[in-house]
Amino acid sequence: MTMDTPAQLNSAQLNLARRLARPELLELQPYESARRIGGRGDIWINANESPFNNSRLDRVNRYPECQPPELISAYSQYSGVCADNIIAGRGADEAIELLIRTFCVPGVDSIACFGPTYGMYAISARTFNVGVNALSLTTSYQLPEDIMAQVGSAKLVFICNPNNPTGTVIDRGSIEAVVAGLPDRLVIVDEAYIEFCPDYSVAELIEKYDNLVVLRTLSKAFALAGARCGFLLAKAPTCEMVMRVIAPYPVPLPVSELACAALSENGIALMREQVAELKVNGERLTDTLRSCGAKVLSANGNFVLAEFDEPKAVTARLTQAGIVARTYSDPRLSNCIRFSFSNKEETDYLIEQLSQ
Ligand code: PMP
Repeated sequence: MTMDTPAQLNSAQLNLARRLARPELLELQPYESARRIGGRGDIWINANESPFNNSRLDRVNRYPECQPPELISAYSQYSGVCADNIIAGRGADEAIELLIRTFCVPGVDSIACFGPTYGMYAISARTFNVGVNALSLTTSYQLPEDIMAQVGSAKLVFICNPNNPTGTVIDRGSIEAVVAGLPDRLVIVDEAYIEFCPDYSVAELIEKYDNLVVLRTLSKAFALAGARCGFLLAKAPTCEMVMRVIAPYPVPLPVSELACAALSENGIALMREQVAELKVNGERLTDTLRSCGAKVLSANGNFVLAEFDEPKAVTARLTQAGIVARTYSDPRLSNCIRFSFSNKEETDYLIEQLSQ
């Protein structure tokens, strides 16, 4: 990623990123790792690394690039977002935490999110003593009409789309209206599951709005949850601020290699095939859940949320069959079970168990 100097940024962009950032970051000289400083030569003794590579993996005795250029370029090509507007890190979870650490003053600032939703927005905020304005989606799982009033003074507004755990979606127009209506806040759209409904992505709006941030991950459709790789997409000044806070080496070399393979032409084709297969199995599962009398929400991710009259009995039945699905302590979801979509074999078994 290009580290724009403040003079190269246009003043409106500069104002937003600088206005929202924690004041102490404005003067902070980011850590200059040996890898970032770089140099020319054949003998590299500037980073206290070992000269011995004991692994089959090339160069694993050396520190990786902070932002591996081939990974950034692969994600740029896949997402259509310009390379200067991408930060790679350890999953979307790290991006959530980085945004909070970059922009929220502990004990003073707050975030807003719309529940029921992914728990890490609130948990990350609370671990940094940042307030949480925990708002609710409407009964049809949309953003509240008076959202501008409801977000209060929150600096960061998190919208999960498709939403976990409901699986519901908010249309692009509604999200864009919020982004346009809150020009002094960062609106963060978490698109962890977007490969399952790509038409809903707002990533292309990043060029248009200084205050839009999109989060992505390779943990879901790309089948790399164990690798820990995710992306923060935003205008360059926002990225530049976040880069002041990020760890010196957030993307391990083997992770970068796995991620680049997943983002190759073949990797993307495989992902799309698997997304299609998961959706077919998800529909079969959804039909079964409906015929069992469950209330099922429209599923736009790789999971379905089902509400049962007797969730305890269903959970007991699943447990007995060796099936681990997700239940919730949130009172709004106390009768609900979330089922991740799976392969044909596991779906057949699940359907058989639910049908009994
Ligand atoms: N956002 C949402 C909506 C999620 O459901 C998850 C994972 N459960 C994440 C972010 C975190 O993703 P990652 O594995 O990339 O940290």
